[in-house]
Amino acid sequence: MAHILDGKLLSAQVLEEVAREVEILKAERGVVPALAVILVGDDPASQVYVRNKAKRATEVGMLSIEYRFDADTSQEKLNKLILELNRDPTVHGILVQLPLPSHLSEDEVIAAIAPGKDVDGFHPQNVGALASGQPALVPCTPQGCMIMLQEVYEDLRGKSAVVVGRSNIVGKPMAMLLLQANCTVTIVHSHTVGIEEICRRADIVVAAVGRAGLVKSDWIKPGATVIDVGINEVYEEGRRKLRGDVDFQNVEPIAGAITPVPGGVGPMTIACLLLNTLKVAKEKSAFMKRNGLATEAM
Ligand code: NDP
Repeated sequence: MAHILDGKLLSAQVLEEVAREVEILKAERGVVPALAVILVGDDPASQVYVRNKAKRATEVGMLSIEYRFDADTSQEKLNKLILELNRDPTVHGILVQLPLPSHLSEDEVIAAIAPGKDVDGFHPQNVGALASGQPALVPCTPQGCMIMLQEVYEDLRGKSAVVVGRSNIVGKPMAMLLLQANCTVTIVHSHTVGIEEICRRADIVVAAVGRAGLVKSDWIKPGATVIDVGINEVYEEGRRKLRGDVDFQNVEPIAGAITPVPGGVGPMTIACLLLNTLKVAKEKSAFMKRNGLATEAM
């Protein structure tokens, strides 16, 4: 039986620590970390994500500012708000909920966000910094996966890791973080030949695909750690359910450790978003202090 990596419990511990640090920042520097979240359109899943992010931010004592635009809003209007938020010294993190309606350019929106406030870690400057091992704001989901892996391994050095999926928001940054932790990393994708055998050799398999139950029990080496990023809506016995990319029922008896869906990686993503926001606020406050500047305006 695998050790179940409980994302709810682990994220609650991370959020508790964030709340404690927010309290200290407020008391010592008068700084309230603020996260601005922009939502365009009325996609139901995006609305739920934005609501949860705002709720958690408020719970840890941060200021959550929400901006909502109609689905037909223009690129110019969106860019204008982002530029205003970039200049606002009281705003620490800016997040635009993706996906955007098809007439808007996600690349343009991400590039408009000041890299230092890009708490999703999607700006090309942060992507490049992560790839070259420089300080960066790291995408939240892979960051959450790394915290979960630290629950299993004291040291990841020398482990063989396979990342299934190569998206910019999960697969690629996940591979970069594993590489930084001195794993031997393979990325597989929809054109990979022999994906099962490649996974079967791995100590760690991270699935970020978006196909319910793709990763089967015969893909997994006995005792391996399986991190399931996938969130897939399926209908079973006439009811809507959330399933991961891993066939949990059959993989769990073989794996050494595994994340459930729901209640695994999902809650860690929001916790890491708030960790990133706190990081920005702390670094800015430290900069102001070093340079003898007041923080009242932050
Ligand atoms: P994308 O659709 O952007 O990327 C999916 C990747 O999977 C692509 O690289 C694709 O390959 C690869 N892929 C597709 N089919 C196969 C296959 N049969 N075999 C191997 N590889 C395949 O998805 P995301 O990375 O954005 O998200 C992945 C999943 O994670 C989704 O279910 C999403 O909902 C979930 N997610 C969960 C989060 C959380 O907080 N838990 C946060 C973000 C995402 P190719 O590049 O060749 O097309």
